[in-house]
Amino acid sequence: MKNTRIAFIGLGHMGGPMAANLARGGFAVSAFDLSEAALQQAREAGVAVAPSAAAAVAGAAVVISMLPASRHVEQLFLGQGDDGGLLARLPAGTLVIDCSTIAPASAQKVAQAARARGVAMLDAPVSGGTAGAAAGTLTFIVGGDADALERARPVLGAMGKNIFHMGGSGAGQVAKLCNNMALGVIMAVTGEALALGVAHGLDARALSQMMAVSTGRSWATEVCNPWPGVLENAPASRGYAGGFGNDLMLKDLGLAVEAAMGVGATIPLGELARNLYALNKQAGRGGLDFSSVVKLVSDKA
Ligand code: NAD
Repeated sequence: MKNTRIAFIGLGHMGGPMAANLARGGFAVSAFDLSEAALQQAREAGVAVAPSAAAAVAGAAVVISMLPASRHVEQLFLGQGDDGGLLARLPAGTLVIDCSTIAPASAQKVAQAARARGVAMLDAPVSGGTAGAAAGTLTFIVGGDADALERARPVLGAMGKNIFHMGGSGAGQVAKLCNNMALGVIMAVTGEALALGVAHGLDARALSQMMAVSTGRSWATEVCNPWPGVLENAPASRGYAGGFGNDLMLKDLGLAVEAAMGVGATIPLGELARNLYALNKQAGRGGLDFSSVVKLVSDKA
């Protein structure tokens, strides 16, 4: 398996370190990104880069993509106009693993086109952020055939430590959206709770320490606390720089709203949270960590 050739498309904040971990794990990686800066960083991390996506996939048994959104994934694999996209170049038997967070319907559309060519496709969005990507400790949330997942396991194992098989095509994306919708709501309400306490003269650190061992406990109180100065390593303590961007949370909540409409599910808090992160973007904080949403309710944060 280690001499399996892997094509890796999309070397951004997540894809760059993921491709580097595959190369470090002994896989023959051939990578491509549209950005010269991303290619240069990949070279410096010991990843061989190709001049195009088509060149990267030549001879590859496994193709991994880590792109921003649905339209990038559809365009890469299905093409546009006369351009047939990458699927048209892949021989039957190739395994495609898309790790981007995209609409479940897009994942199903590409997987169906892949299947028609004898190519297996998994949706395998991740949790764990850039730190998890760098450390090789990502969680993969997978949709697709069990056989394809068995083939993918050694590859995913070089980039992460947990793998959850959620069901058929698109199920990985649905599960990822459920997780991120809960996260978005929890972060927003944790910020509100801390702002309320501070407005009453409480110390945000003492309030957070109490909540972190009480029933209001969550990743937002313990790991990524939204109040500045409470946790030294949280984005809030460095001006909300780095971390998981407000715009990415906004994208994921938009996908959750779309997914809910598709099946007639009601997600009142998810819809409200989508609006909060949209307001936070309008306030100029789209590029900051999503915990900056607390600034909507307090000018002390
Ligand atoms: P990013 O914007 O840093 O990277 C995306 C890369 O894709 C860019 O380098 C871009 O140049 C490249 N790209 C776009 N279209 C391309 C094409 N056609 N061919 C080749 N390269 C192309 O984004 P990211 O933070 O790495 O996130 C990637 C995905 O992972 C997103 O769907 C995001 O929602 C998801 N995600 C991100 C995080 C995080 O903490 N950043 C965590 C979990 C999941």
